[in-house]
Amino acid sequence: MSAPMDPATASAAPRPEAVNDALATVIDPELRRPITELGMVDSVHIAANGKVTVAVLLTIAGCPLRDTITADAQKALSAVPGVTAVDVELKVMNQAQRDALKEKLRGSGGQRKIPFNEPGSLTKVYAVASGKGGVGKSSVTVNLATALAAQGLRVGIVDADVYGFSVPALMGITQSPTQVDDMILPPVAFGVKVISIGMFVTGNKPVAWRGPMLHRALEQFLTDVYFGDLDALFLDLPPGTGDIAISVAQLLPKAEILVVTTPQAAAADVAERAGAIATQTGQSIAGVIENMSYLEMPDGGRMELFGSGGGAVLTERLGSTVGTEIPLLGQIPLDIRLREGGDAGLPIVLGQPDSPAAAALVGIAGQLAARPRGLPGMKLDLQPR
Ligand code: ADP
Repeated sequence: MSAPMDPATASAAPRPEAVNDALATVIDPELRRPITELGMVDSVHIAANGKVTVAVLLTIAGCPLRDTITADAQKALSAVPGVTAVDVELKVMNQAQRDALKEKLRGSGGQRKIPFNEPGSLTKVYAVASGKGGVGKSSVTVNLATALAAQGLRVGIVDADVYGFSVPALMGITQSPTQVDDMILPPVAFGVKVISIGMFVTGNKPVAWRGPMLHRALEQFLTDVYFGDLDALFLDLPPGTGDIAISVAQLLPKAEILVVTTPQAAAADVAERAGAIATQTGQSIAGVIENMSYLEMPDGGRMELFGSGGGAVLTERLGSTVGTEIPLLGQIPLDIRLREGGDAGLPIVLGQPDSPAAAALVGIAGQLAARPRGLPGMKLDLQPR
C-alpha cells in the first residue's frame, strides 16, 4: 500500500501561470515596463523539484542595471508557491530582438521623431527659464519633477543647461544612459527619467558648443532618448535668452515657459527678458515662481534677504507684454535644507517634506498637476454630421 500523498508535496510544483505572473511584476528599471512585455524573457524552465531557471535578455551586454534586474527577478520568483530555487541567466538580445524592442517602444517603423510633438501627445512640456544663473532654476526643476513623480505621474527632465548642467548631481545620478543602437535609455531617479549633457562629457569639462551644436544636441535628446509616454517633461534651460531658448521654441512649439526669479527687482528685470521671449516664439507662459523669497527666523518672523515683490511685479509685467494673466505659482523660502538636499542628491520634497520650502514646491507641483494634460493645439478628430 502506498503512503498517502503529503498535501504539501502534492501542490509543490510551481504553476507556470504563477511563475509568469511573478515575472510580469519585474519592471525594467530604465524602460519602466514589465520585462515580459518587452520581450526580455527568453525562456523559463520549471523543474520537478521546484527550481525555476529563467533566461533574461538584456538590451546590451554592459547593461548597468543587470544586477537590479537579476535581484528583482530572484525576489519575485522566490515568492511563488512551490519554488525551491531560482536561477536567473542573463543573455543579450540579438539585433532582430533589439529591433523588435525598439519598434515596440517607438511604434511601427521605429522612426525618429519628437514624440511630444505628435498630434496625440498629451505630455505637458515645461521649459524652466530664468534671467540669470543662481536663482534656483535647477533646484526648482528637480523638486517639481520629483514631487509630481511622487504623486504617481510619469515625469522626465531634459537638462538643457549646457554650461551649468547640474540636474544629475541634484538627483544623485551617477549612472550613464544605456545606448541601444540609436536609442538612448535615460537613467531614472526618484521615478524621474533624466537626461543631461553632463552624462555625455567626461569629468567636469566645460562644454564649449556653439548654437548649432546645442540645437543638434537638444534635438537628439528629444528624438533618440526613450522617455515613453510622459505626463510632464521639464526642460532645464540655461539662464538668459540664448540660443537654446530659441531651439526649444523650434523643437517643442507646444512647450510652456515657467519663469523662476528671486524677489529682487533687478532679478525680475532680467527674468522679464527671458520670459518675454515667449512673445517672439509664440509660446505661452505657464507662470512665475519666486524663489529665495524670505528666510524664516527662529522667532517665526520673515527676513526678506533679497527684498520683496519681484515675483508679483514680474507676473504683472509679463502679463501686460503677452496680453494674458500670468499666475504667480508660488513663493519658495530660503532654506539651508534645500541646498543640503541638492548637495546630497536628495530633493527636499522627499528628504524634508515637512519643511516650508518643500511645502511651497509641492504646492506649485500640485497646480501644475491640476492643469489639464496638453490639449491646446491638439486636433480633435471630430467630424461634422
Ligand atoms: P540655477 O539653476 O538658477 O543656477 P541652482 O538651482 O543651481 O540655480 O541654485 C543655486 C544655489 O542656490 C544652489 O546651491 C542651491 O542649492 C541654492 N538654492 C536654490 N534655491 C534655494 C532656496 N530656496 N534656499 C536655499 N538655497 C537655495
